[in-house]
Amino acid sequence: MTCWLDSLQPRIEKVRAQIHAACARVGRAPESVVLVAVSKYQSVDAIREAYGAGLRVFGENYVQELNEKRLALRDCADIEFHLIGHLQRNKVKQLFSESVRPIAIQSIDGERLVEQIATCARTVKQIVPVWLQIDIAGESQKSGCSLDEVGALVRAVRTCAELVLEGFMIIPPATDDPEQTRPYFRKLRELAREHDVAKLSMGMSSDFEVAIEEGATHVRVGTAIFGARPIP
Ligand SMILES: *Cc1c(COP(=O)(O)O)cnc(C)c1O
Repeated sequence: MTCWLDSLQPRIEKVRAQIHAACARVGRAPESVVLVAVSKYQSVDAIREAYGAGLRVFGENYVQELNEKRLALRDCADIEFHLIGHLQRNKVKQLFSESVRPIAIQSIDGERLVEQIATCARTVKQIVPVWLQIDIAGESQKSGCSLDEVGALVRAVRTCAELVLEGFMIIPPATDDPEQTRPYFRKLRELAREHDVAKLSMGMSSDFEVAIEEGATHVRVGTAIFGARPIP
């Protein structure tokens, strides 16, 4: 079957309506929430279609895939990419080149990674927006820095002239019930206030409405926009 009938437009409209409704429930302006379309494994054409429907911020998980898409979509002048997947230090260099605009990196979880990114940014004379990924539930197998490390990492980023600390990011424990996740969203908001950090990246397809009720400024939504991810 061809998929020409399966346009992204209705799904994007539905997600936007859900964002509006969640904002209305807690008295927030819908413009205070950035919809980050998570496009890992999705085609360049699918991203173009979402861009055509007005989406501008895209989340990618893998450095090489991100670079290929940045190149293929360089005609989309105001497209913005955020790296949301785990970043290895030996891959950092590949993210930087003088000929491309810097991306935002949401998945920073250690001081050596901070140093590596600052060094690369300095080389190409770019300022990089960064976020700290926090292991909010203390799941040792997950990426993200521990709650104990947050203070030191915030200081490390703020002392680097090449980096701008934008916000905190979490991937809470998986559950079928978004209400189970609410306490983690709330905890991140409190942590951000403690450290005077303005932006919160939290909430995915299954729980972005609850995340918005708890103060998310960036929701990372993949499946609800693009449908089920193709198997790579
Ligand atoms: C894949 C991914 C998402 C999107 O997940 P969906 O459930 O498809 O919305 C969000 N955040 C991160 C870090 C991801 O890896």
